[in-house]
Amino acid sequence: MGLKTPAEYVASLRDGRVTYWDGERIDDITTHPRFRVPIEVASRDYLYDDPSHAELRSFATDEGGRAHRIYQIPRSEADLATRVELMYHTSIVGLVSGVYMALMSVKDAVAKVNPQYAANIEAMYRHARDNDLRAAEVITDAKGDRKRKAHEQDDPDLYLRIVKRSNEGIVVRGAKLHITGASLCHELVVMPTKGMRQDETDYAVSFSIPVNTKGVKIINRSFAPAELNAFDYPASAHHSIPEGFVIFDDVFVPWERVFLAGEVQLASLFAQSLGLWERTGGLVEAVRMSQIFVGLAQLVSEHQGKERDPVVQNSVAELISYAEMLRMSLDYACRNYERTPSGMIHPNVLAVNVAKYYYAANYHQTIRYLHDVSGGLVITLPLEADLRNEESGKYLRKYLKSVPGAEPETRMRVYNLIRDLTADAYGGWQFVVALQAGGGLNAQRIMMHRTYDMATARARALAAAGATPH
Ligand SMILES: Cc1cc2nc3c(=O)[nH]c(=O)nc-3n(C[C@H](O)[C@H](O)[C@H](O)COP(=O)(O)OP(=O)(O)OC[C@H]3O[C@@H](n4cnc5c(N)ncnc54)[C@H](O)[C@@H]3O)c2cc1C
Repeated sequence: MGLKTPAEYVASLRDGRVTYWDGERIDDITTHPRFRVPIEVASRDYLYDDPSHAELRSFATDEGGRAHRIYQIPRSEADLATRVELMYHTSIVGLVSGVYMALMSVKDAVAKVNPQYAANIEAMYRHARDNDLRAAEVITDAKGDRKRKAHEQDDPDLYLRIVKRSNEGIVVRGAKLHITGASLCHELVVMPTKGMRQDETDYAVSFSIPVNTKGVKIINRSFAPAELNAFDYPASAHHSIPEGFVIFDDVFVPWERVFLAGEVQLASLFAQSLGLWERTGGLVEAVRMSQIFVGLAQLVSEHQGKERDPVVQNSVAELISYAEMLRMSLDYACRNYERTPSGMIHPNVLAVNVAKYYYAANYHQTIRYLHDVSGGLVITLPLEADLRNEESGKYLRKYLKSVPGAEPETRMRVYNLIRDLTADAYGGWQFVVALQAGGGLNAQRIMMHRTYDMATARARALAAAGATPH
């Protein structure tokens, strides 16, 4: 019980979990080169002594213990602001553990249908919090033929489902795809991917189980190979976290770990709640990255002596506009928070969905401005090894000179970051992440329709038109 050290976290991953990567079954992820960077990244969240983040990283629980702040239930605007600040300094493995916020947000509604499920949510939240666990958000099903409902698929397992119920618990079968950091977490928190209808009861299922539970298998994939040079890949050499293709091969879940088992009326609530917290996390990252894009566009322009050119200034202004719209939207969403009946607060649902939509819908064309100012060296710049080689390096130093003060090596680092973030494997991953992670564009459009004050908009439009309300 209590806070783990990074070494204890690493040791806790040696638990017999079944993982695969690139065709290889990996029995101990803590010693495998593929997992070196991912485990380093996730371990940093356990550095509770780090003076720069000591206060931010943990909080005092009501019971007098200390826990990672990702488990702090926000009850005031200040709590929410601290949570957002924490998100800027936490790995994605720490961030996805915020899945318990999604569960705690729906707990009151769940209690009305089945108080035992609500008690299970509370107990699992405390278990994860007090043992300093990390938990994956396990939502997206394989889904097969998108035209057909879960139970209409040729293979009934294309959405995760209950295949057996007993006095002790349920047995589930299916697969959940794209699960961020699944192999680096302790718990898999499973929820339905969408609302379920009456004939889909076996698919309305939510629970939490340890990653090493019998029958769970994870196939990993990441944008980064095991080893990347940090000069040539300044972002992805440090940031790689694999997604997992997670299989549930007849997995037993005891009742005390079940949050939903057939109550279809609650399925969409779980999915929506998770969407809110996922999208908030995505926005925080978008705010951070969009500011870096502005800085990179400015630097690359200064290094080429064109920062006063009106066309370049227009491009930088476009990047500023994008970055500031995102920053202000996130700020607005947190200031105009909403409250659950038990007093937990969460960011404004409409604002988060509009902001996430804006981020995703404009990401690709905004990056275009950065590429436009940067030029071709973004993708043709030679590698660090060529700079360090005496013979080739002298030419790089000579021909990468531009304006006074712009060191060739600094220029190379700037180009490398632009390429890594926007034009290479990690950059390609980011292009898809912007659109799909946290749900595709349509998931946000649906939430806009559900939460926008349409009655007022209609009434004002009618009044402005001089028409009679109907
Ligand atoms: C890097 C990354 C990390 C992720 N991490 C997680 C995670 O940790 N946990 C998790 O649960 N999920 C995660 N996701 C999954 C993400 O939420 C999904 O990718 C997203 O919801 C889209 O679902 P899909 O990939 O199954 O694509 P699809 O369902 O095929 O959707 C693709 C497009 O098709 C459209 N579409 C879908 N169904 C229909 C239909 N019936 N008719 C018409 N159009 C349709 C959608 O609107 C969308 O635009 C992650 C995704 C990525 C890329």
